[in-house]
Amino acid sequence: MLNIALFGPPGAGKGTQSERLIAKYGLLYISTGDILRKEIASGSHLGQEINRITSQGHFVSDELIMRIIRKTIDENPHVNGILFDGFPRTISQAILLEELIGDLHTRFFGVLSLEVPREELIKRLINRGKVSGRSDDREDVILERLREYESKTLPVAGYFQEKGFYYPVDGTGSLEEIFNRLVEQIDKHSNLQ
Ligand code: AMP
Repeated sequence: MLNIALFGPPGAGKGTQSERLIAKYGLLYISTGDILRKEIASGSHLGQEINRITSQGHFVSDELIMRIIRKTIDENPHVNGILFDGFPRTISQAILLEELIGDLHTRFFGVLSLEVPREELIKRLINRGKVSGRSDDREDVILERLREYESKTLPVAGYFQEKGFYYPVDGTGSLEEIFNRLVEQIDKHSNLQ
């Protein structure tokens, strides 16, 4: 099994590159942000609560995140591996990911990190907001999401770096160039060949 976490700040291109990676490697895609947005769209009580938190750029609880991840895995038992997008976002989630990998009796490839300069991220997110209709792609919320990322999520990079499971990739350039860089890292560091 090839279990990867695609890492990077909001606007780094995780969603776009995920689509290509799951197609190439036959992976189950788990985007915690997409799952949360679906729950919001359903109009459920839980969805309204999630919307209250995410529309301010804040994180939902680890407990909720683990519940939706385990549910998605249970519903998709026969896969070549999992691509996590937007998870783990905190050190506590990184530890929960390791527990999950242990429970599944599988291995963790590691973290592929898309690196994009801050100014470029803000530009991309403001442009995305014009078409995405996402309530969190507004300039004030974008800045709050970047702050959350820098204070809570960046330490996750150090956590996996120390373990030797961290692969930075230049996230600028054409979609094709970025994809090829990701594939190169996967093929170099996994034993799929
Ligand atoms: P994303 O689509 O990954 O940018 O996620 C959109 C929003 O959903 C984030 O800004 C958070 O509010 C929330 N979210 C997504 N994934 C997580 C997670 N792993 N932990 C906590 N909150 C999350």
